[in-house]
Amino acid sequence: MNLKEKYTEQAIWDMIAQIPDPEIPVITIEELGVLRKVEVLKDKVIVTITPTYTGCPAMKMFEDDILKTLHDNGIENAAIKMVYTPAWTTDWMSEAAMQKLKDYGIAPPVKGTQDKGVLFGSAPKEVQCPQCGSKNTELKSQFGSTACKALYQCKDCLEPFDYFKCI
Ligand SMILES: [Zn+2]
Repeated sequence: MNLKEKYTEQAIWDMIAQIPDPEIPVITIEELGVLRKVEVLKDKVIVTITPTYTGCPAMKMFEDDILKTLHDNGIENAAIKMVYTPAWTTDWMSEAAMQKLKDYGIAPPVKGTQDKGVLFGSAPKEVQCPQCGSKNTELKSQFGSTACKALYQCKDCLEPFDYFKCI
């Protein structure tokens, strides 16, 4: 039996959809919007992903995790296809994922304010503190625990927190 007879695209999707983000383990690659497409060929599975942004160090981990999960499920021949257009935007992130980020202590991206400028220096206007909800926050560093996040501090509860940058 070849792969195409054995697996539907949905079956492969379900197999890998729950893989957590290597940096934010409470959120899955499906919720993040990184997982785009699954193709099942006779002898090969092709998984299409769109990086959150070019050069994000987590992408290599995504690739490894997807290939390992497929391998663990008996699919030896799999490939990852990176697609950069249309570019990933935070709008692809589900509402549930936004809430999980917040619960995890990371301020979720402010929807509708996606601005490439955030990556190059200008800060978004209002970032809400995930601890107390205050909008009285300030940017401490363009780079938080990873390049995809910025470090903020709340001026009310004084808690530092990561903000997931909008792109
Ligand atoms: Zn606060």
